Parts: sequence; C-alpha cells; structure tokens
Amino acid sequence: MRYIGCHLSASGGNVAMIKTALSIGANTFAFFTRNPRGSKAKPEDPADCAAAVEMLKQNNFGPLVAHAAYTMNLCTADPDARAFTASVLADDLRRMAALPGNFYNFHPGSHVGQGMETGISQIVDALKKALEPQYPVTVLLESMAGKGSEVGGRFEELRAIIDGVGSDQVGVCLDTCHIWDGGYDIVNDLDGVLAEFDRVVGLDRLRALHLNDSKNVHNSHKDRHECIGDGNLGLATFERIINHPLLAGIPMILETPNELPGYQKEIALLRSMEK
Ligand code: FE
Ligand code: FE
Ligand code: ZN
Repeated sequence: MRYIGCHLSASGGNVAMIKTALSIGANTFAFFTRNPRGSKAKPEDPADCAAAVEMLKQNNFGPLVAHAAYTMNLCTADPDARAFTASVLADDLRRMAALPGNFYNFHPGSHVGQGMETGISQIVDALKKALEPQYPVTVLLESMAGKGSEVGGRFEELRAIIDGVGSDQVGVCLDTCHIWDGGYDIVNDLDGVLAEFDRVVGLDRLRALHLNDSKNVHNSHKDRHECIGDGNLGLATFERIINHPLLAGIPMILETPNELPGYQKEIALLRSMEK
C-alpha cells in the first residue's frame, strides 16, 4: 500500500483536511502552510493539531508534506526581504512542530542574477538559522525545473545545500514534472536517474515525491504540470514509479491541475496500477 495523496485546501484546518483525504482515498496529503502567494499564516489551533495527530495515526497515514508559500525566496537579492523570508521559514518550522514527524517542503529559491553559489549560500544560511534540533520536522528541498535562475534544478545543487546545512533534518522531494523538464529522463531511464540521485545526493535523503505529468518535453526547463497520463511522462512512467522498490514507503503527492473529483480519480488510477 503506497502513500498517495494530493494538495488540499488548508482553510478548514487539519482535521477537515484529513476527512477530505479519507473521502478521496488518500493516505497522505499536502497543504500550504500559509497563503501560497503571500505570507499570511492562519492563527494556530492546538486542539485541531492534537486531534489531527490522533486521526493520522488511527488511519495509518504516511507523513504529510506541507508546502511553503511560492513567494518564499530564501535567496532574494534584497537583504531586508531576505531576512523577512528567513523569519517566515523559521515561523513555519516552529508551527510544523505541532504536527510532529511530518515534512516541510519548499522551493529552494531563485538567485535572481546573484549567481548559483551565492544563492546556495544564502539558502544554507537561512536553513541553519531556522532549523532548531528539537523541532520534529524534516525540511525537504524540492527539485526544480531549472527555470530562470532557480536553484535546485540539478542534483548537485541540492547536495551543496544539504552539505552546507550539515543536518539530517534536510531531505529532498523529487517532483516528476520538474526533474523531467530539468533534464532527467525518467521516461526512458528511471533506474538511471535514481542511480544518479543516489550517487550525487543519496537515496536516504529522498523523503517525498510530487507526482505530476508534464505539458512540456524533456529538458525544456518550463514547469507546467499536466494530469497523470495526459502529458509527456505518460501512464507507463507513473506505473513504474508507483511500483519501484526504491520508492516504496515515501509519500507521493499529486499537484496536477485538478479539483477534488479529479484527484480522487487519479488516486484510484494510481492505486489500480499498484502491483
Ligand atoms: Fe512545489
Ligand atoms: Fe512540486
Ligand atoms: Zn511545478
């Protein structure tokens, strides 16, 4: 039984998300920790968190994969904006401690012309400041498509961040659309890409997957998600991913262009391909 789920709206709270997940056949899910395009967070609700922890356990959910706001750029050029962004990260991680054992996924950032090395060192600085060893949360660097000045389009860039932070609280979330668009051929050589990831980063750091088909061709550096089976990755690729022994046990999150009924169908489709 794989952990499969999708992005859900966090507006009703954690218990509401778990109920929604159960209603569509999901046993994990993702949600934005705050307004995806802004920085506002909801007031904290300890009772809702405590009830959620219990419900997740009772229903055998896999780890959840919270997602930072898209606007969070830890390597933005303006120092004041960068300091603010780093404080948002720290606040998100503190809040995640109310849901212990789960993941906090974020886009490493865009260096906006400062250069890859500077971008990576700014991301490392922010993570070092924000990560408190007592927080029971693992941060996941999301692999990116390498659009514009994005950091994290190459496995080597993820490795450099992990090495810089030097904490086992840092892992990776591979996004199937992003790595395909970024130049890793998971259609024709999934095993080769996983071997490359293992060599550069280490498979022990791979903690979650984003399952998205792609509207674009291999190495396009575009990042446009498509529904499962309707894009250039195709159903057979997802069948291999769902059943790959090296990917067993990690949460797989759909971020396809769907509302709930579409997600429910995709989850059922993926489960029907499980061997
Ligand atoms: Fe993402
Ligand atoms: Fe993603
Ligand atoms: Zn994307």
